[in-house]
Amino acid sequence: MTKRTIEDVDLRGKRVLVRVDLNTPIENGAVADDTRIRAILPTLRYLIARAKSIILVSHLGRPKDAPDPQYSLKPVAECLSELARTPINFRTDSLTDNIEAVKKSCEKFKVTLLENIRFYPGETKNDPALAAKLAQLGDIFVNDAFGAAHRAHASTVGVAQKLPTVAGFLMKKEIEFLSRALENPDRPFVAVLGGAKVSDKIGVIQNLIPKVDTIIIGGGMAYTFMVAQGKPIGKSLLETDKIDLSRQTLEQAKKKGVKVLLPIDHVVSSEFSEKGDVKIVGENAIPEGYMALDIGPKTADLYAKALADAKTVVWNGPMGVFEMEKFAEGTHKIAQAMAKVKGVTIVGGGDSVSALERFKLADKMTHVSTGGGASLEFLEGKKLPGIEAIANK
Ligand code: ADP
Ligand code: MG
Repeated sequence: MTKRTIEDVDLRGKRVLVRVDLNTPIENGAVADDTRIRAILPTLRYLIARAKSIILVSHLGRPKDAPDPQYSLKPVAECLSELARTPINFRTDSLTDNIEAVKKSCEKFKVTLLENIRFYPGETKNDPALAAKLAQLGDIFVNDAFGAAHRAHASTVGVAQKLPTVAGFLMKKEIEFLSRALENPDRPFVAVLGGAKVSDKIGVIQNLIPKVDTIIIGGGMAYTFMVAQGKPIGKSLLETDKIDLSRQTLEQAKKKGVKVLLPIDHVVSSEFSEKGDVKIVGENAIPEGYMALDIGPKTADLYAKALADAKTVVWNGPMGVFEMEKFAEGTHKIAQAMAKVKGVTIVGGGDSVSALERFKLADKMTHVSTGGGASLEFLEGKKLPGIEAIANK
């Protein structure tokens, strides 16, 4: 890892400002999924044992640049306090008007959590004035918010320009797993790509072609690729303006000697619902008036076989409309095949991760990324501004 981390700095007597990603689902005023809160505990515990005080900054949801109670981090503060077994000083007062008061209260407590940073219009605009207020609260800035690293905001990039900046353990783990897969993978290296749209994933496919041995394609985007091969798709998802690009991508893969697997059978339905006429059809057999909503059993077996001897697997995007029971089997079988892989398995993407959690297979993977959009951009080979802003070793 080329970035400096919390292990590379002297934290004694320091006030440490930490950007974390505590953007968790809230239901009825309580945290509905504490995955992201648990994910920051290693960093938090390390800092509690060493630093003078810790000031946590996060966003939650997409408030419209102003305080909005439904996006308050208060339930998160309560949950974090329980999980970390430590009192949390939760501050709702304005950084813009009361920075001195906030600063004083941070000095009285070991751990402070500031209210949702997106309540300030300056956050998403990366306003230097807001970054300067944040910088007043700490001596060192720790970025542990991989999930927000693809955004150049005041609390990810702005403040990093004003304080010495290092990565936390979660950020480190994410960077290490993803970059190892991209730069130095054990082979065979297989990418499993699915999800709704070609346009969302084409950047990932193109970045991975020169690196992988096999690409497995499923989900809604498979059908644009099938049209590019002249196959019937009925009324399955199609991006007409991406047919040419899909054809070129297949040719590119062929030139590089990369094997591309596309579905050979399908679960189709007469409508986008489990109530339609649902059946399994073979290759080249999606009937007029039907849409494919999952890969079929033969495809799932074919894909599982391709995964069996893989040493590195990166998975992004479900194989079907897994939210509906009747179209979840393909994604489930792929997740099971990945669980058996004797090598490194990495899963990124919000929906892919929630599918894994539903199948209770998340803990069978080597690394489940906490960043949806951020992991996607990383796999596209883009430089993430939040990571760029961290000091190099
Ligand atoms: P991720 O969040 O893991 O990156 P995406 O957001 O790209 O994944 O795609 C997830 C969505 O793709 C899911 O909501 C799923 O229902 C949808 N999807 C998967 N297969 C199909 C299909 N055959 N037709 C329509 N939508 C699909
Ligand atoms: Mg998604």
